[in-house]
Amino acid sequence: MQFTDLGIDTRLETQLAHQGITQPTDIQAHAVPTALAGHDIFAQSKTGSGKTLAFLLPAVQRVMKQKALSKRDPRVLIVAPTRELATQVFTQLRLLIAGTAIKSVKILGGENFNDQIKALRNDPQFVIATPGRLADHITKRSLQLSGLELLIFDEADRILDLGFTEQLKLINEQANHRLRQTLLFSATLDHAQVDALSRNLLKKPKQIALSAANEQHSDIKQTLYLADHLDHKEALLEHFLTQDNVGQCIIFTATRADTSRLSESLNAKGFKSVALAGDLTQNKRLDIMDAFSRENFKILITTDVASRGLDLLSVTHVINFDLPKHAEEYVHRIGRTGRAGFKGNALSLVGPKDWLSYLAIKSFLNDELTFSSVDGLKAKFKGLKEKKPVSASGKNKAQPALTKKPAFKRKTKPKKPTAPIKAPLNIDGDTPMRRKKKTEQE
Ligand code: AMP
Repeated sequence: MQFTDLGIDTRLETQLAHQGITQPTDIQAHAVPTALAGHDIFAQSKTGSGKTLAFLLPAVQRVMKQKALSKRDPRVLIVAPTRELATQVFTQLRLLIAGTAIKSVKILGGENFNDQIKALRNDPQFVIATPGRLADHITKRSLQLSGLELLIFDEADRILDLGFTEQLKLINEQANHRLRQTLLFSATLDHAQVDALSRNLLKKPKQIALSAANEQHSDIKQTLYLADHLDHKEALLEHFLTQDNVGQCIIFTATRADTSRLSESLNAKGFKSVALAGDLTQNKRLDIMDAFSRENFKILITTDVASRGLDLLSVTHVINFDLPKHAEEYVHRIGRTGRAGFKGNALSLVGPKDWLSYLAIKSFLNDELTFSSVDGLKAKFKGLKEKKPVSASGKNKAQPALTKKPAFKRKTKPKKPTAPIKAPLNIDGDTPMRRKKKTEQE
């Protein structure tokens, strides 16, 4: 199938071909014609499956081909939860509209407000924004949305998790054109809050659910390792990082402080790592992401700030040094590898402090998690005892988690890691994601 078969203009198809993108992915094949037909969309599709182009292509085509409903206001607004994700979407958009007269602007928190006002006065057709700063511009009336034609929420669940419900309401009220079309995308949309939100935002939406949020990602090999304490985790980490098949690697820790501590510790051992934490200035964050995307260093250590929005095909490993508290974040973190048809590895270290998170993730993923161990680095820790509800007699009947029947499949020998990734692989058969050239953001 070609992009033109989906109703996409040949000019856009040529732009995509320059990036080595020649055939639509599943989510694109479903979402593009539905969006072009003017329907609202509620779409869930796995990480790295091409969601961004699934909403950008119909948006750009609309701006190229259809008359604007208002001359002054932006025509398309894309709201993303984090600056990283918004930047990622913006980069893809810029590639698509290169050589056209279409104007776009990025409105992120942490950047100069007055510069943003100036950029908005330039009447861009596209605005890509994070919700907090966007709401500030609406309140200060430097941005009017009454003529908005297309409202797109990327990773809508995360926007809610970050507490932006009021900002979303404001955007919804202000972007009140009766012909407004709304698209909502994420890899994890099945939580009750999102349902409620979508009822307010979407009109008779077409549901596109290509995979459940908790479905195993066929391109990501997930393995967990028990760990006794911090030093044990670091020893395991060092072991993983010295394996031959490790290309670029993203390590997630629980807190910002841990990112710096771990980075210093790894660098002292001769690794080249950089910590990316949410408290850095926006410019510093962008510099780090840029240097990582140019492969200037191999290891990026971060928190959930980068669990969505990092799209680098050279990332062969995601390592959860600490498990995330929310199971959905696990899905997004590991989704930084195994993108666009590449194979990836997700390794997670599970110590006593991670145990509750592990149980939550295990239950979210329907138990499909495999533990392994490294010779010479086996943990004494075997899982925490489950607390039983207090019985009528007032006594807790506690049961050891892993004494008789392990709560997970243990392998006697750790599996040999898969071969290094040299070229994109076509795993899904009917949804090839081959790339001929590297794009700018790679
Ligand atoms: P996304 O899920 O939108 O973050 O996209 C993941 C990666 O897949 C990005 O690097 C895209 O450039 C790439 N991609 C998107 N669509 C295609 C396609 N049809 N063929 C090959 N690569 C694609």
